[in-house]
Amino acid sequence: MSNAGNLKELFSSLVFNERVMKERLPKETYKSLKKTISEGSNLDLETANVVANVMKDWAIEKGATHFTHWFQPMTGITAEKHDSFISPTGDGSIIMEFSGKELIKGEPDASSFPSGGLRATFEARGYTAWDPTSYAFVKEGSLFIPTAFCSYGGEALDKKTPLLRSMEALNTQALRILKLFGSTAKRVYATVGSEQEYFLVEEADFKKREDLLLTGRTLFGAKPPKGQELEDHYFGTIKPNVMEYMKDLDKELWSLGISAKTEHNEVAPSQHELAPIFSAANLAVDQNQLTMDVMRKVAKKHKLVCLLHEKPFAGINGSGKHNNWAIATDTGENLLEPGKTPESNPRFLLFLAAIIKAVNEYQDLLRVSAASAANDHRLGANEAPPAIISVYLGSELTNVLESIEASKDYTSKAQEKMKSNVSFIPEFIKDNTDRNRTSPFAFTGNKFEFRMLGSSQSISGPNFVLNTIVAEELRQFADVLEKAKDFEKTIAEIIRKVVKENKQIIFNGNNYSDEWTAEAKRRGLLNLKNTVEALPYFVSQKNIDLFTAHGILTEKEVHSRHEILLEGYWKVINIEALTTLDIAKKQIIPAVYKYLDVVAESTLRRQKLGLNVETDIDALAKLSAQKDALQSAVAKLDKAIAKAKGIDDTSEKSNFYSKTVIDAMSAVRTAADDLETVVSVEYWPFPTYSDILFRI
Ligand code: ADP
Ligand code: MG
Repeated sequence: MSNAGNLKELFSSLVFNERVMKERLPKETYKSLKKTISEGSNLDLETANVVANVMKDWAIEKGATHFTHWFQPMTGITAEKHDSFISPTGDGSIIMEFSGKELIKGEPDASSFPSGGLRATFEARGYTAWDPTSYAFVKEGSLFIPTAFCSYGGEALDKKTPLLRSMEALNTQALRILKLFGSTAKRVYATVGSEQEYFLVEEADFKKREDLLLTGRTLFGAKPPKGQELEDHYFGTIKPNVMEYMKDLDKELWSLGISAKTEHNEVAPSQHELAPIFSAANLAVDQNQLTMDVMRKVAKKHKLVCLLHEKPFAGINGSGKHNNWAIATDTGENLLEPGKTPESNPRFLLFLAAIIKAVNEYQDLLRVSAASAANDHRLGANEAPPAIISVYLGSELTNVLESIEASKDYTSKAQEKMKSNVSFIPEFIKDNTDRNRTSPFAFTGNKFEFRMLGSSQSISGPNFVLNTIVAEELRQFADVLEKAKDFEKTIAEIIRKVVKENKQIIFNGNNYSDEWTAEAKRRGLLNLKNTVEALPYFVSQKNIDLFTAHGILTEKEVHSRHEILLEGYWKVINIEALTTLDIAKKQIIPAVYKYLDVVAESTLRRQKLGLNVETDIDALAKLSAQKDALQSAVAKLDKAIAKAKGIDDTSEKSNFYSKTVIDAMSAVRTAADDLETVVSVEYWPFPTYSDILFRI
């Protein structure tokens, strides 16, 4: 068979998708499952039994012996617990069984997952519930069933539930607007394509670095003589071993129905990117989780390690995840497509206005959605977008909005002006060639690209926030428009008001410049520099009202998530601090002692021979002083950790970690990195940046 033919057969071969369902399920079962999927109605047990049985037979054909409910707890990674299909028959033999009940509901012990106080210890039970909107698949001998995870009391304990709820909210509110435009669409959903950045390093190097092993990033490492300054890596030729990896990865992803499409080298040495073709947001979230998992596993086969940490190496670019987001209808339209026909453009402008208003009013939530200890190394540093949220529209589209805002006699000539204004739109597409790469939230032709996300994070959070805040603005617009006497005029008024009141969020310039930081401050935009500054905004009354109004999260759920995020934050830094101490005390300081001894011995011997050892003694004294500096930095870090341990209040604790502990850790690193530049490579206890970044 041709390669293309093979590929066609390979694609989705391990997914229980629409095609398989149609082929294998009895007609009636298929119909009622479809109804459940499209309308969110409940699946009766009888249908579930039939589906489960067909699924099981299909999975066994694909080599599965087990099944697992696959869910996304608040750890940000996925969880699974495998049960076999085996059921004894009583005569010593077995049959393979899988019931509808097992498909629909699981009862994992929830006590080992973060719950932020939601799960009382006496109620450890949690439930996983099948999410039929995401396809089941076979991986490593198990049938994976995507599920939502909640507590005994029904509170969401996962990243998926709020996302699904937010998609409902967006659907409800967007349909209200579409109806007013006479659309026949029955369903609206967010589409997401996430570009995944990652590093590849040799497994042999990785294993020698306790910091990479335990924290995913290097806690030590002097700047190598060569970094990314020659700009020779971005889109550069892909090295053969990396190419092999990418090919293998593609195959695995394709068989799981993930349409990996674009692969290229990224800015930093050993850094790469993978982008899939976009899909419905809930599917995109599941698929991104799977992608990260498969990336790690395939790397192992190639004796490589895939680093998904946001900042594996200091001094060179970190890794992010660009979240491309748009709104689609079941009738095949993209609502963020400016379009060529002016008469459909008021609708585009209305959705655009909703997004601008949403981003401005909920800057804090978007910022929180990308906040983590790891991402703090990127945001605001000179590579990723700044910590300040703004929207890039490009000059033409900005002009369109400004002219709508400025037309004072707009009312009387609404239609005419609107047309002449929007006739700019087809032209503005040319503006996209001049794409702004520094904006955290950029319009890129027919979608927005949210660029703050960290590479390792679940994309669920940013997308449930985006869906919810846009749903809220659409709700406000729909409330007004449904009662409007003059539809067109009211739209114009809404857009004008939105531009007037929210234009401070629009910025088309260089987001990395110091001028922008100053300008943003003048405009009153938030600049939440790190996770601990950002997190308190999550639980503000305004945001609790938003989440509860749309049924995304209850007040209790918001608070529990806040608690989980704070706890996750200080725990990560605590592990890093302890690892820093461990490496400094048990590897670096002993290595320096050894090297000092060698130099001292040699100096003594030469002194005995009557040679001039002045320089040697100077160097020794300096080296010894550097060692002392490291030891005193280590002592300070020890103290800081001990103090942190004694703080009970989570907010206070996180604050302490974000300042005192991080500063103490940096001081240890600086002292150790200084030593790395003078101690002989023979004595340095682990591979250096040059070894790791340029050898592969
Ligand atoms: P770039 O690196 O220039 O930003 P890429 O081609 O690497 O662009 O990635 C663009 C991403 O945007 C892809 O994942 C693509 O599928 C996705 N995308 C394109 N159109 C949409 C859309 N309507 N909704 C969501 N994502 C989209
Ligand atoms: Mg991009």
